[in-house]
Order: sequence, then structure tokens, then C-alpha cells
Amino acid sequence: MTYFDHAATTPLASEVLEEMMPFLTAAYGNPSSIHSLGQEAKCALDVARDRVAGLLHAQAREIVFTSGGTEADNLAIRGSLWQNENKGRHLVVSSIEHEAVLDTAESMRVLGWDVTLLPVDRAAVVQPDALKDAMRPDTTLVSVMTANNEVGTIQPIAELAAIAHEAGALFHTDAVQAIGAIDVAPNEMGVDLLSLSGHKLYGPKGIGALWVRHGMRLAVQMTGGGQERERRSGTENVAAIVGLGKACEMAAEGLLNGAPGRLSALRDHLISGLMSAVPGAVLTGHPSRRLPGSASFLFPWVEGEAILLNLDFEGFCVSSGSACSAGAIEPSHVLLAMGFSPDDARGALRLTLGRDNTEADVDRLLGVLPGIVQRLRDLRPGG
Ligand code: PLP
Repeated sequence: MTYFDHAATTPLASEVLEEMMPFLTAAYGNPSSIHSLGQEAKCALDVARDRVAGLLHAQAREIVFTSGGTEADNLAIRGSLWQNENKGRHLVVSSIEHEAVLDTAESMRVLGWDVTLLPVDRAAVVQPDALKDAMRPDTTLVSVMTANNEVGTIQPIAELAAIAHEAGALFHTDAVQAIGAIDVAPNEMGVDLLSLSGHKLYGPKGIGALWVRHGMRLAVQMTGGGQERERRSGTENVAAIVGLGKACEMAAEGLLNGAPGRLSALRDHLISGLMSAVPGAVLTGHPSRRLPGSASFLFPWVEGEAILLNLDFEGFCVSSGSACSAGAIEPSHVLLAMGFSPDDARGALRLTLGRDNTEADVDRLLGVLPGIVQRLRDLRPGG
């Protein structure tokens, strides 16, 4: 199989697995134990924390390990809203967030918070003026993702965070898709909270972290043994944390060695190849401010799922833009927010490249995809 679905998850790097193995076998100590086996695990956590902080150009004490991006988003939103409840009960999130943010915001709305959904433009960019208009004296948190998981658009986070701060609100960014793909520095962006996830950067699944600006207080969401400086209780998943640390170290090396440039060139080759070979194809997301590996399209008059299944048959893993809920295929909320009709959105296809993909992989895809789209179009009644 040729894998073009790196936004869904990435393969575990062999170097990462190698570093994890001892902590799945002989080095099984609990980091809270005082004996040497426990201290070995504790040291491994410290190294991993330094590596995650290193990728973010931040301090180790600002990292809170979580069970993944979803929990990091939940902790950021619930933790800051409950902590600042006295200031106000208004939350602003963009309309194209991942469900980990959108559904958490919705759950707070049910509890009495006001939620404003920020619109985006046709390229999925949150306009700074829209945020200015949304801010109120009782706004306590703004959450806008660094880069979108469906269309790859990168947001002007520094500008948006400055607007939130001017109005006295905190700023959270879900950087799950951006981490490792582009250089992300929360201090430079001026955000207060930032979520990341291990399995999007060649680390293990079920591990992530929330970067919490030093000195910021969050209402604790997971109580118990007081791990993670009382911010997230529960015996640490040592092996996964070690894996996340190694993945972050490797990502930092990749950024230094020009990985984003190489991937962007491959992505542009794919985009220009498809745009010229498939009549009517539409590139979704921002033409230039997009993640290096992200190529997303609409193919009018065909269903994205049908293309996906045909490509699967040809040996390619890709994604369509829709979510399947309760057996019905719903058009993507991201594409709808960008102003596409439900009909347009049905033809969505997402191809997300990773570091093992080659030009030959892309050329092979370019050799089959236009024919698949044409065949599906011909099958339509009157097509
Ligand atoms: N946020 C974004 C933007 C994502 O793409 C994802 C995963 O797809 C998540 C959050 C959830 O992360 P996790 O799978 O680690 O819970």
C-alpha cells in the first residue's frame, strides 16, 4: 500500500519503537516509586519532557502529558473556562475546529457558557476582523487551530492571539496537525495553551501533551495521585511518553534539515498534476499558507468515498472529507463553513503526504486517479 493519509495518523518510526521497547519490558518501574527502577522511569520522563519542550522552543515544566490531542484540547478548554468562570462565561472557537474542540465547546454551552463560532473565508482562514467583532468583556478563551486537518490551511495565530489578549482573553491553539510539519513556537505565536498529539508525528497513539504557559493556572480535570505537577493525575504512560519525546526530537531534526521544503515540493507536484489532469478539480484550503504535506480537493459530480474505495483497490490509502455518523455520510463541517454546498462537499478527497512518500508514489497516483474520476463520472445517470 502507498500511504497518503498522514493527517489521520503516521507510521511509528522504528527509532521511536526502539526507544520505547525497554519501557514496555524490563524498565517497568512507576515513575513515582523511589527505588531505582522507579527513578529510571522518572529520568526517562524528564528526557522526554525536555525533547517535547525543545521542539516547541519552550520550557520542560510547561509540558503536561495527556492521553492524546483530544484530552489536551479538553484540558485546555474545560480547565481554563472553569478556572476563569468568575471573569465571564463566553468562549470563542473557529467553526472549522476538530470535534475535540467543537464538541467540548458544545458541552460547555450546555452547562451555561455562551459559544461564538468564528466564520472562515473560502480558503478556511479566520479573519482577524471576525475575531475582533466576536470579542466581549466576558470572553475568557479563544481557541483557533494552528492548521486545519482537512484542508491544511495555516491560521494567522500570532495576530489572532494578540486580538484575544487585547480584549483580556486567553488563547488556545490546537496544533495537532502542525507539530512536526512546520516550526511551532508558542511563545513567538503569543498563545497561552497549545495541544499536540504523538501519532501525527511518527510517535505512538494515545499520547499527547498540552503546553501550558508558565504561571498559568487551569482547573484540574483529572484528579488523583497528583502527577504532572498536580495538573493531570494518573500513572504516566512511560513508554508512550518516551516515544513522543523521541518523535519530537526527530521532528526537530527534520525541520532543521529541510523536511518541510521537500514535502512542499512533492505536494505541489501532486497538486499541479491533479489540477491539470482532472477537469473541474478544485483545490480546497489556502493556495500557499498550507501544511507542507496537505493536498485537498473537490471533484465535482463524484463522491469522495467512491474515489477512496477505488484508490484503496489500486493500493492507495487516502481520505475523503466526510465523516460517517450513524451510518449516514455527512458533508464536512469544514467545507460547509468555507462556503461550499453540501453537494460540492461530497466530492472531497484529502491526500496527506509524509516523509516516506516519493515522487514515484505521487506519479503512480497521478497515473490512476484521473481515470477513476472519469469512470465514476461516466457512471452517473446522464454522465
Ligand atoms: N485535533 C486535530 C486537529 C486532529 O487532527 C486530531 C486527530 O485527528 C485531534 C485533535 C485528536 O488527537 P488524538 O487523536 O491524539 O486524540
